[in-house]
Amino acid sequence: MHRTLADDLSRLPELLQSARDLAALEVTGLAERPVVQFDETPDRDPLPGEGAGAEGALARFAQRWAPGFSGSAGPRYLGFVTGGATPASVAGDWLTSTYDQNVSGAAGSWATALERETVAWLRELFGLGEAHSGAFVTGATVSNTVGLAIAREWLGERLGVDVSLEGTAALGPVDVLSGSPHSSTAKALSVLGIGRDRWRRVTVLPDNREAVDVAALDAALSELGGRPAIVVANAGTVNTVDFDDLRAIAALKERYDFWLHVDAAFGAFAALSPAYAHLVDGLDAADSVCVDLHKWLNVPYDAAVQFTRHRDLQVRVFHNASPYLGLPTGEPDFLHLTPENSRRLRALPAWFSLVAYGRAGHREIVERNVALAHRLGEGLVGLNGLRLLAPVRLNVVCFTLADQPTQERVNTLAQAVAASGEAFLTPTVYGGVPALRAAFSNWRTSEADVERVLAAVASARVD
Ligand SMILES: *Cc1c(COP(=O)(O)O)cnc(C)c1O
Repeated sequence: MHRTLADDLSRLPELLQSARDLAALEVTGLAERPVVQFDETPDRDPLPGEGAGAEGALARFAQRWAPGFSGSAGPRYLGFVTGGATPASVAGDWLTSTYDQNVSGAAGSWATALERETVAWLRELFGLGEAHSGAFVTGATVSNTVGLAIAREWLGERLGVDVSLEGTAALGPVDVLSGSPHSSTAKALSVLGIGRDRWRRVTVLPDNREAVDVAALDAALSELGGRPAIVVANAGTVNTVDFDDLRAIAALKERYDFWLHVDAAFGAFAALSPAYAHLVDGLDAADSVCVDLHKWLNVPYDAAVQFTRHRDLQVRVFHNASPYLGLPTGEPDFLHLTPENSRRLRALPAWFSLVAYGRAGHREIVERNVALAHRLGEGLVGLNGLRLLAPVRLNVVCFTLADQPTQERVNTLAQAVAASGEAFLTPTVYGGVPALRAAFSNWRTSEADVERVLAAVASARVD
């Protein structure tokens, strides 16, 4: 064994203690760390010839790179939809690396059963029935891709084609209908060979809504003349957190042949609160469901879950049969369900957080985040020169300049807020108007943080 490696092996507990000390320092200071870092990155070092040992690597990381990492896991990073990492989930994440399990198959370790337990808990948390099975993937983009891959296989079954054998081309043009899908849906359609242009935008409801007009969807399905299609319903849009009427969409299945995929990346968490659970009524009727976990569950990157009622079709797409792996029988191993073969035990951080805080703890995060979004919305309206572009529906505030909200002026505002180090908001365009979004999904965010965000926006205002 190389000398530094042997050295590290003999001092493993001390090395982990040093890493723990740095981590403790970082999480303690997280709320005060600048939310984003714009300074120049350091010059690239040459590949080390002789290693410095783990202690040396830690010191070099702390000196060269750590100062430039963003406070995106902290309470006032409101860009995109960004969760943090609960204390228990961080512990679970460390142990994931410590045990370094390969959750491709069930043989020889209980890790697969732990992932199955976690998936079953999440299914219950989001109000899905036992007909749904699930698997961990890296994020909502992959979850959407897997869901739509199963949809593609289903289309083949309807049209008498085996897509997994013959390829997507054998299907001919595929019809994908959706009102306000996330950009990852288009990416998934590209990856799957269906094509980004096959998405047909269905009219959304009037009066500043992003939810699909179910009557328009009905008409669009009817125009297909019986040809099976894919409907992507959106439960929680990123700009205004609008929800398609899932129950009404599912009811259309009585008259039309379509696969219902629901992108509930963060919207699924509405199910945790009795006040908002109605927003995801009907989620269980979906054929496939996407939920992100590194957003509102507040587990570290990268984690999401993919649910489906059609595991048989999922195995057709994703099975990995080889002389030494064999064909899946009984309950299929995870390597037959998702794009990965070897897989990290992504479920462990989620398992830790669910055990540590339970349904009640995670419900409190959701409800507090929603209350804080409303508070920010009211505060912004109280500032001169700003207006909301939509009512605060759940955990996102979408607002812009009252006067001349040009892209340039809105970007200037976003940059000035970010430069303060106090808060981070991301620009968007909503209804053709350049705007900013503040998305609440971090477990640490408090009322005091909202006041600081308001102060940062107030002093960054472009006049
Ligand atoms: C964030 C998000 C995605 C993509 O999620 P990743 O985890 O970044 O891949 C997809 N859909 C919706 C609605 C989202 O909010």
